Amino acid sequence: MKHALFLLLILSLAIAGCGGNDKPADTGKLYVVATTMQVGDLIRVIGAEHVELSVLMGPGIDPHQYKASAGDVDRLTQADLIVYNGLHLEAKMGEVLERLNSRKPTLAAAEAVPEAELIVLDGAHDPHLWFDVARWRLALDAVAAKLAEVDPEHAAHYQTNATAYRAQLTELDEYCRAQISRIQPQQRMLITAHDAFNYLGRGYGLEVVGLQGISTVTEAGTADVQNLAALIASRKIPALFMETSVSPRAIEAVREAVRAKGFEVVVGGEIYSDAMGDSGTPQGTYLGMVRHNVDTIVSALTGGEGK
Ligand SMILES: [Zn+2]
Repeated sequence: MKHALFLLLILSLAIAGCGGNDKPADTGKLYVVATTMQVGDLIRVIGAEHVELSVLMGPGIDPHQYKASAGDVDRLTQADLIVYNGLHLEAKMGEVLERLNSRKPTLAAAEAVPEAELIVLDGAHDPHLWFDVARWRLALDAVAAKLAEVDPEHAAHYQTNATAYRAQLTELDEYCRAQISRIQPQQRMLITAHDAFNYLGRGYGLEVVGLQGISTVTEAGTADVQNLAALIASRKIPALFMETSVSPRAIEAVREAVRAKGFEVVVGGEIYSDAMGDSGTPQGTYLGMVRHNVDTIVSALTGGEGK
Protein backbone atom coordinates (compact mmCIF):
# COMPACT_ATOMS: atom_id res chain seq x y z
CA MET A 1 0.00 0.00 0.00
CA LYS A 2 2.77 2.40 0.99
CA HIS A 3 4.57 1.49 -2.19
CA ALA A 4 1.53 2.26 -4.31
CA LEU A 5 1.11 5.66 -2.67
CA PHE A 6 4.74 6.48 -3.34
CA LEU A 7 4.34 5.52 -6.97
CA LEU A 8 1.28 7.73 -7.22
CA LEU A 9 3.22 10.64 -5.77
CA ILE A 10 6.07 10.22 -8.26
CA LEU A 11 3.58 9.97 -11.09
CA SER A 12 1.69 13.11 -10.12
CA LEU A 13 4.94 15.04 -9.68
CA ALA A 14 6.00 13.94 -13.16
CA ILE A 15 2.69 15.11 -14.61
CA ALA A 16 2.93 18.46 -12.84
CA GLY A 17 6.52 18.86 -14.01
CA CYS A 18 6.07 18.32 -17.72
CA GLY A 19 2.68 19.80 -18.51
CA GLY A 20 3.64 23.47 -18.38
CA ASN A 21 0.45 24.56 -20.05
CA ASP A 22 -1.92 22.23 -18.27
CA LYS A 23 -3.89 22.79 -15.16
CA PRO A 24 -1.55 22.36 -12.21
CA ALA A 25 -1.82 18.98 -10.48
CA ASP A 26 -4.96 19.10 -8.42
CA THR A 27 -4.04 21.39 -5.55
CA GLY A 28 -7.64 21.80 -4.45
CA LYS A 29 -7.25 25.50 -5.21
CA LEU A 30 -9.34 27.54 -7.56
CA TYR A 31 -7.57 27.67 -10.94
CA VAL A 32 -7.82 31.20 -12.37
CA VAL A 33 -6.48 32.20 -15.79
CA ALA A 34 -5.92 35.92 -16.44
CA THR A 35 -5.03 37.54 -19.75
CA THR A 36 -2.99 40.63 -18.81
CA MET A 37 -0.58 41.18 -15.93
CA GLN A 38 -2.77 44.00 -14.58
CA VAL A 39 -5.83 41.83 -14.02
CA GLY A 40 -3.55 38.96 -12.98
CA ASP A 41 -2.16 41.15 -10.20
CA LEU A 42 -5.66 41.73 -8.82
CA ILE A 43 -6.18 37.95 -8.65
CA ARG A 44 -2.77 37.45 -7.05
CA VAL A 45 -3.49 39.98 -4.31
CA ILE A 46 -7.10 39.03 -3.58
CA GLY A 47 -6.90 35.30 -4.22
CA ALA A 48 -3.55 34.87 -2.43
CA GLU A 49 -3.03 31.32 -1.14
CA HIS A 50 -6.48 30.09 -2.20
CA VAL A 51 -5.89 30.56 -5.92
CA GLU A 52 -3.65 28.94 -8.49
CA LEU A 53 -3.01 31.71 -11.02
CA SER A 54 -1.88 31.58 -14.61
CA VAL A 55 -1.27 34.81 -16.59
CA LEU A 56 -1.17 34.49 -20.38
CA MET A 57 0.59 37.76 -21.37
CA GLY A 58 3.98 38.39 -19.79
CA PRO A 59 6.31 41.43 -19.68
CA GLY A 60 6.71 43.25 -22.99
CA ILE A 61 3.63 41.64 -24.55
CA ASP A 62 1.19 43.83 -26.49
CA PRO A 63 -2.40 42.75 -25.71
CA HIS A 64 -3.90 44.50 -28.78
CA GLN A 65 -1.94 42.16 -31.05
CA TYR A 66 -1.90 39.04 -28.87
CA LYS A 67 -3.39 35.84 -30.26
CA ALA A 68 -4.12 32.86 -28.02
CA SER A 69 -1.70 29.97 -28.54
CA ALA A 70 -2.81 26.33 -28.43
CA GLY A 71 -1.34 26.16 -24.92
CA ASP A 72 -3.36 29.22 -23.89
CA VAL A 73 -6.57 27.64 -25.14
CA ASP A 74 -5.72 24.53 -23.07
CA ARG A 75 -5.25 26.64 -19.97
CA LEU A 76 -8.42 28.64 -20.60
CA THR A 77 -10.37 25.44 -21.09
CA GLN A 78 -9.09 24.05 -17.78
CA ALA A 79 -9.76 27.23 -15.80
CA ASP A 80 -12.35 27.43 -13.02
CA LEU A 81 -12.53 31.18 -13.68
CA ILE A 82 -11.24 33.41 -16.50
CA VAL A 83 -10.54 37.07 -15.84
CA TYR A 84 -9.66 39.50 -18.63
CA ASN A 85 -9.58 43.27 -19.07
CA GLY A 86 -12.32 43.61 -21.68
CA LEU A 87 -13.38 46.76 -23.58
CA HIS A 88 -11.74 45.05 -26.59
CA LEU A 89 -8.22 45.36 -25.21
CA GLU A 90 -7.65 41.69 -26.04
CA ALA A 91 -8.95 42.37 -29.54
CA LYS A 92 -7.62 39.23 -31.19
CA MET A 93 -8.78 36.93 -28.38
CA GLY A 94 -12.39 38.12 -28.61
CA GLU A 95 -13.67 34.99 -30.31
CA VAL A 96 -11.95 32.58 -27.91
CA LEU A 97 -13.16 34.49 -24.86
CA GLU A 98 -16.69 34.72 -26.21
CA ARG A 99 -16.81 30.99 -26.84
CA LEU A 100 -15.73 30.24 -23.25
CA ASN A 101 -18.10 32.87 -21.85
CA SER A 102 -21.10 30.60 -22.19
CA ARG A 103 -19.29 27.57 -20.75
CA LYS A 104 -17.67 28.81 -17.55
CA PRO A 105 -17.39 31.76 -15.15
CA THR A 106 -15.66 34.72 -16.79
CA LEU A 107 -15.19 38.33 -15.79
CA ALA A 108 -14.19 41.37 -17.83
CA ALA A 109 -12.71 43.39 -14.95
CA ALA A 110 -12.57 46.81 -16.64
CA GLU A 111 -16.19 46.52 -17.73
CA ALA A 112 -17.22 46.84 -14.07
CA VAL A 113 -16.95 50.61 -14.49
CA PRO A 114 -20.21 52.36 -15.53
CA GLU A 115 -20.18 53.17 -19.22
CA ALA A 116 -20.66 56.90 -18.60
CA GLU A 117 -17.32 57.00 -16.75
CA LEU A 118 -15.32 55.46 -19.59
CA ILE A 119 -13.32 57.55 -22.03
CA VAL A 120 -14.51 57.34 -25.62
CA LEU A 121 -11.96 57.90 -28.40
CA ASP A 122 -12.67 57.54 -32.12
CA GLY A 123 -16.03 56.00 -31.27
CA ALA A 124 -14.58 53.23 -29.08
CA HIS A 125 -14.19 52.82 -25.35
CA ASP A 126 -10.62 53.35 -24.23
CA PRO A 127 -9.68 50.01 -22.60
CA HIS A 128 -6.63 51.24 -20.58
CA LEU A 129 -8.68 51.74 -17.43
CA TRP A 130 -5.97 50.60 -14.99
CA PHE A 131 -4.27 54.02 -15.18
CA ASP A 132 -7.25 55.56 -13.43
CA VAL A 133 -6.25 54.24 -10.02
CA ALA A 134 -9.43 55.49 -8.34
CA ARG A 135 -11.66 53.65 -10.82
CA TRP A 136 -9.43 50.56 -10.85
CA ARG A 137 -10.92 50.02 -7.38
CA LEU A 138 -14.16 49.11 -9.14
CA ALA A 139 -12.31 46.37 -11.03
CA LEU A 140 -10.92 45.22 -7.68
CA ASP A 141 -14.43 45.04 -6.21
CA ALA A 142 -15.68 43.09 -9.22
CA VAL A 143 -12.82 40.57 -8.96
CA ALA A 144 -13.40 40.10 -5.22
CA ALA A 145 -17.13 39.56 -5.76
CA LYS A 146 -16.51 37.07 -8.57
CA LEU A 147 -13.98 35.07 -6.56
CA ALA A 148 -16.45 34.91 -3.67
CA GLU A 149 -19.20 33.76 -6.01
CA VAL A 150 -17.13 31.00 -7.62
CA ASP A 151 -15.45 29.92 -4.37
CA PRO A 152 -17.87 30.84 -1.54
CA GLU A 153 -15.89 28.80 0.99
CA HIS A 154 -13.16 31.47 1.01
CA ALA A 155 -15.39 34.51 0.47
CA ALA A 156 -14.39 36.11 3.77
CA HIS A 157 -10.69 35.85 2.91
CA TYR A 158 -11.23 37.46 -0.48
CA GLN A 159 -13.18 40.29 1.12
CA THR A 160 -10.48 40.91 3.75
CA ASN A 161 -7.73 40.99 1.12
CA ALA A 162 -9.77 43.29 -1.11
CA THR A 163 -10.42 45.75 1.71
CA ALA A 164 -6.72 45.96 2.57
CA TYR A 165 -5.73 46.41 -1.07
CA ARG A 166 -8.41 49.04 -1.61
CA ALA A 167 -6.66 51.21 1.00
CA GLN A 168 -3.38 50.83 -0.89
CA LEU A 169 -5.04 51.89 -4.14
CA THR A 170 -6.48 54.95 -2.42
CA GLU A 171 -3.02 55.85 -1.18
CA LEU A 172 -1.55 55.35 -4.67
CA ASP A 173 -4.27 57.55 -6.19
CA GLU A 174 -3.30 60.37 -3.82
CA TYR A 175 0.40 59.84 -4.57
CA CYS A 176 -0.18 60.17 -8.32
CA ARG A 177 -2.14 63.40 -7.91
CA ALA A 178 0.41 64.96 -5.56
CA GLN A 179 3.42 64.05 -7.74
CA ILE A 180 1.97 65.13 -11.07
CA SER A 181 0.87 68.48 -9.62
CA ARG A 182 4.58 69.28 -9.16
CA ILE A 183 5.11 69.57 -12.93
CA GLN A 184 4.87 73.14 -14.30
CA PRO A 185 1.36 73.46 -15.82
CA GLN A 186 2.60 74.27 -19.35
CA GLN A 187 4.79 71.17 -19.34
CA ARG A 188 2.20 68.70 -18.09
CA MET A 189 2.21 66.81 -21.36
CA LEU A 190 2.78 63.10 -21.72
CA ILE A 191 3.90 62.02 -25.19
CA THR A 192 4.10 58.31 -26.01
CA ALA A 193 3.88 56.03 -29.03
CA HIS A 194 0.38 54.68 -28.43
CA ASP A 195 -2.48 56.33 -26.67
CA ALA A 196 -2.56 54.27 -23.46
CA PHE A 197 -2.53 57.04 -20.88
CA ASN A 198 -5.79 58.95 -21.30
CA TYR A 199 -7.12 57.74 -17.95
CA LEU A 200 -3.89 58.86 -16.27
CA GLY A 201 -4.29 62.22 -17.99
CA ARG A 202 -7.94 62.67 -17.02
CA GLY A 203 -7.38 61.47 -13.47
CA TYR A 204 -4.34 63.56 -12.64
CA GLY A 205 -4.32 66.54 -14.97
CA LEU A 206 -1.85 65.58 -17.69
CA GLU A 207 -2.36 66.41 -21.33
CA VAL A 208 -1.80 63.14 -23.18
CA VAL A 209 -0.67 62.69 -26.78
CA GLY A 210 -0.24 59.25 -28.31
CA LEU A 211 1.07 58.97 -31.81
CA GLN A 212 -0.82 55.81 -32.72
CA GLY A 213 -4.29 56.01 -31.20
CA ILE A 214 -5.68 53.69 -28.52
CA SER A 215 -4.67 50.51 -30.30
CA THR A 216 -1.22 49.63 -31.64
CA VAL A 217 -2.74 47.97 -34.70
CA THR A 218 -2.57 51.03 -37.00
CA GLU A 219 0.79 52.71 -37.50
CA ALA A 220 1.30 56.46 -37.36
CA GLY A 221 1.79 58.31 -40.66
CA THR A 222 4.39 60.92 -41.59
CA ALA A 223 1.90 63.76 -41.12
CA ASP A 224 1.21 62.63 -37.53
CA VAL A 225 4.94 62.62 -36.78
CA GLN A 226 5.40 66.12 -38.26
CA ASN A 227 2.39 67.57 -36.40
CA LEU A 228 3.56 66.15 -33.11
CA ALA A 229 7.12 67.40 -33.68
CA ALA A 230 5.82 70.92 -34.33
CA LEU A 231 3.78 70.82 -31.12
CA ILE A 232 6.76 69.66 -29.04
CA ALA A 233 9.05 72.32 -30.48
CA SER A 234 6.55 75.16 -30.02
CA ARG A 235 5.64 74.16 -26.46
CA LYS A 236 9.26 73.29 -25.59
CA ILE A 237 8.22 69.96 -24.07
CA PRO A 238 11.43 68.54 -22.55
CA ALA A 239 10.77 64.80 -22.79
CA LEU A 240 8.83 62.02 -24.45
CA PHE A 241 8.55 58.41 -23.33
CA MET A 242 9.14 54.88 -24.58
CA GLU A 243 6.76 52.04 -23.72
CA THR A 244 8.01 48.57 -22.80
CA SER A 245 5.48 46.80 -25.01
CA VAL A 246 5.69 49.02 -28.11
CA SER A 247 8.50 49.36 -30.68
CA PRO A 248 10.67 52.48 -30.07
CA ARG A 249 10.67 53.28 -33.81
CA ALA A 250 7.83 55.79 -33.81
CA ILE A 251 9.22 57.74 -30.86
CA GLU A 252 12.66 57.86 -32.49
CA ALA A 253 11.06 59.28 -35.64
CA VAL A 254 9.43 62.05 -33.60
CA ARG A 255 12.75 62.88 -31.93
CA GLU A 256 14.42 63.19 -35.33
CA ALA A 257 11.65 65.44 -36.63
CA VAL A 258 11.90 67.68 -33.55
CA ARG A 259 15.67 67.92 -34.00
CA ALA A 260 15.10 69.03 -37.62
CA LYS A 261 13.11 71.94 -36.21
CA GLY A 262 16.08 73.01 -34.10
CA PHE A 263 14.78 71.75 -30.74
CA GLU A 264 16.01 68.83 -28.62
CA VAL A 265 13.57 66.56 -26.84
CA VAL A 266 15.00 63.74 -24.74
CA VAL A 267 13.62 60.29 -24.04
CA GLY A 268 12.50 60.69 -20.45
CA GLY A 269 12.65 56.97 -19.82
CA GLU A 270 10.71 53.81 -20.38
CA ILE A 271 7.24 53.50 -18.92
CA TYR A 272 4.80 50.61 -18.73
CA SER A 273 1.63 50.90 -20.74
CA ASP A 274 -0.07 47.59 -21.53
CA ALA A 275 2.43 45.21 -19.93
CA MET A 276 4.09 45.37 -16.53
CA GLY A 277 7.67 44.56 -15.42
CA ASP A 278 9.23 41.18 -14.65
CA SER A 279 7.63 39.33 -11.78
CA GLY A 280 9.79 39.54 -8.67
CA THR A 281 10.64 43.20 -9.38
CA PRO A 282 8.67 46.19 -8.00
CA GLN A 283 7.46 47.00 -11.53
CA GLY A 284 6.05 43.48 -11.77
CA THR A 285 3.25 44.57 -9.43
CA TYR A 286 0.51 47.03 -10.28
CA LEU A 287 1.39 49.33 -7.38
CA GLY A 288 5.10 49.40 -8.31
CA MET A 289 4.40 49.79 -12.02
CA VAL A 290 2.18 52.86 -11.56
CA ARG A 291 4.68 54.40 -9.14
CA HIS A 292 7.54 53.80 -11.57
CA ASN A 293 5.58 55.50 -14.36
CA VAL A 294 4.64 58.52 -12.29
CA ASP A 295 8.16 58.94 -10.87
CA THR A 296 9.70 58.63 -14.36
CA ILE A 297 7.27 61.13 -15.88
CA VAL A 298 7.58 63.66 -13.07
CA SER A 299 11.36 63.41 -12.96
CA ALA A 300 11.74 63.98 -16.73
CA LEU A 301 9.19 66.80 -16.96
CA THR A 302 10.59 68.70 -13.99
CA GLY A 303 14.19 68.44 -15.19
CA GLY A 304 15.14 65.80 -12.66
CA GLU A 305 13.78 67.62 -9.62
CA GLY A 306 10.71 65.44 -9.52
CA LYS A 307 11.82 62.95 -6.88
ZN1 LIG B 1 -2.82 49.75 -25.39
